[in-house]
Amino acid sequence: MSDNTSDNSRRRFIKLGAMGLAAIPLSNILVRGAQAANAVDENSPMAKSLSYVSDAAKADQGKRGGADRFCKSCQLYSGKAGDASGPCSIFQGQLVNANGWCTAWTKKAG
Ligand code: SF4
Repeated sequence: MSDNTSDNSRRRFIKLGAMGLAAIPLSNILVRGAQAANAVDENSPMAKSLSYVSDAAKADQGKRGGADRFCKSCQLYSGKAGDASGPCSIFQGQLVNANGWCTAWTKKAG
């Protein structure tokens, strides 16, 4: 009887563990999907008017004015250090790429 109870507990533990492992990649996919859906579209009128690019290397380097100019080094960027993208006070409700750039770039204070 006690062996049976032990087996049931073990099966339940394994089942819950498998469900937990299966849930992690799904949550990652959902978060990434939400971020991608929220990313600034380079072809939107606002992005085009500011020459926004999600990869600063693809920007007009003459306009860019310096290889150290990225969204992540811009005063208007409020993403966390190390994040791939984050909010920008110009593109409200959307995410800009940390390695992106636009003509409104302003040197981060401090
Ligand atoms: S204002 Fe700054 S953070 Fe926003 S898109 Fe332009 S360079 Fe990036």
